[in-house]
Amino acid sequence: MRVCIHRGAKQIGGTCIEIEAGSRRIAFDICLPLDAADDTASMLPAVPGFRDPDDSLLAVVISHPHQDHYGLARHLRPDLPIMIGGAADRILKAAACFIRSGVSFQNLIPLRDRRVVEIGPFRVLPLLVDHSAYDAYSLLAEADGKRLFYTGDFRVHGRKAALVERLIEHPPAGVDVLLMEGSSIGRLDEDDSFPTEDDLEHEFVDAMHATKGTVLVYASGQNIDRLVTVFRACRKTGRQLVIDLYTAEVLRATGNDRIPQGWWSGVRVFLPHRQRVWAKRNELFDLVPRYRANRIDPEELASAASTTTALFRPSLCEDLDRANCLAGASVIYSMWSGYLRDERSEPFLKWLDRHCLPMVKVHTSGHASVRGLKRLADAIRPRRLVPVHSFSPDRYSDYFDNVDIRGDGEWWEV
Ligand SMILES: [Zn+2]
Ligand SMILES: [Zn+2]
Repeated sequence: MRVCIHRGAKQIGGTCIEIEAGSRRIAFDICLPLDAADDTASMLPAVPGFRDPDDSLLAVVISHPHQDHYGLARHLRPDLPIMIGGAADRILKAAACFIRSGVSFQNLIPLRDRRVVEIGPFRVLPLLVDHSAYDAYSLLAEADGKRLFYTGDFRVHGRKAALVERLIEHPPAGVDVLLMEGSSIGRLDEDDSFPTEDDLEHEFVDAMHATKGTVLVYASGQNIDRLVTVFRACRKTGRQLVIDLYTAEVLRATGNDRIPQGWWSGVRVFLPHRQRVWAKRNELFDLVPRYRANRIDPEELASAASTTTALFRPSLCEDLDRANCLAGASVIYSMWSGYLRDERSEPFLKWLDRHCLPMVKVHTSGHASVRGLKRLADAIRPRRLVPVHSFSPDRYSDYFDNVDIRGDGEWWEV
């Protein structure tokens, strides 16, 4: 078995790993670097079969539906087999109805937790993990009598932490190479930990109690764990949760009836002006009737402000201005705070200032703490541990044994 990290050996995001056995190949993740200036086919790593037909490339496996793991997939040739979680695929398809740069796979091999997929000389075992993206997997690949374990992105402090605890308790044996993400390495001390989603729930409850008017929660519509946390806080504070049509469709795409849905009591669906125009232009109006009973109009956003928490994105600012629902409102920022330093956040920050809206931050990482990483590495005990998805590969040997740093584009034998 030979391996090449085409991108992502020394950065967070942009990961693409090619694995070869018996002159057949598969790739793990195909993503846009987070700092990429453009999103074009020219950004694709030079892997034969990505753009032009090449039978020796059997499939691309996508660990989870985050931009920095699938972002370039729309530039792959459309008939290339894609392996991704079934719910993750549905979420991307639902989002693609609303996002111009969305992706909708045509040749799908759906992954299911702990169901082996055999493809050419490879056996790929997906293991569902806890992460801020829904339906996220670690991947165990076997070929040529060798075993490679790619963690993908994971954490041990979210709503699905039990999945990783199970993995730590029953780790795969005989792993030759562990490709382990290290988003926290170099950013967090060894003894530091992240708050859990339950910790956040208490913070959301406090912030909702402290607000007289509408609470606007600035979070990703695809961070399902977070939406569950916000919904639970709404329940505890007697607020309804308002989501837009896009988020309602993403939640529906999970196919999970234990996750809040647009037709649930306590959930209301708002159709922002932009989505109304978009739905009309793209003939998406058949999506709207399923939420008819729970639709909320701008007048009610204002009259029910004191009992409303609304999921927020800057694209909603104009709708909220028009609805006149911001007296006594506050904003809870629930994403990585680094985005606020990006110049693209300036219009939002000016809008906050203009309305004198107070903002608090309530967030936790989608990635394991150093201690969480150590627990998994200690359980798996790989022959070699190769850093990936980290800005500090040189720090790995402070925490782990048998570290083997590899560069982007370098082929090596397992
Ligand atoms: Zn990532
Ligand atoms: Zn991720």
